[in-house]
Amino acid sequence: MTYRNGLRQGDGPGMLRVRRPIHAAALGRSAMRYDATVIDPTVPPSGTGCVECDEVGGWWLHLRRCASCGHIGCCDNSPAQHATAHAAVTGHPVIRSFEPGEDWFWDYRTDSFMHGPPLAPPLHHPLDQPVPGPRGRVPADWRSRLNP
Ligand SMILES: [Zn+2]
Ligand SMILES: [Zn+2]
Repeated sequence: MTYRNGLRQGDGPGMLRVRRPIHAAALGRSAMRYDATVIDPTVPPSGTGCVECDEVGGWWLHLRRCASCGHIGCCDNSPAQHATAHAAVTGHPVIRSFEPGEDWFWDYRTDSFMHGPPLAPPLHHPLDQPVPGPRGRVPADWRSRLNP
């Protein structure tokens, strides 16, 4: 990498030392930009499965995590749609995917995807937990029981 004055990164005197803190500060502001009244990055997920499905022996397709309180609920394609029900009952408006490899947030207030801060781990259900899940509770005709 070459700057206008020909100095490579690490060679420079004043200019490069000044640029780095400014850059870091900008990143810091960006990473902290979330609504702390509805997102609590410190609260861990409630468990590895949908809270309400686990209570009654139900099953789910995908899992969602409430960004306010950590409640794990099942997605809208699942038979019981407990994540959306939780948002409606509690007024907690933001969820994050609890699926491996997914990091999107959803805001029910705007019905749109959004970015959010890193939440307390774990960030997804166990990798050996099947989709749909959980193991042993998924009926053979599960595809015909999904919500569109
Ligand atoms: Zn559920
Ligand atoms: Zn919640």
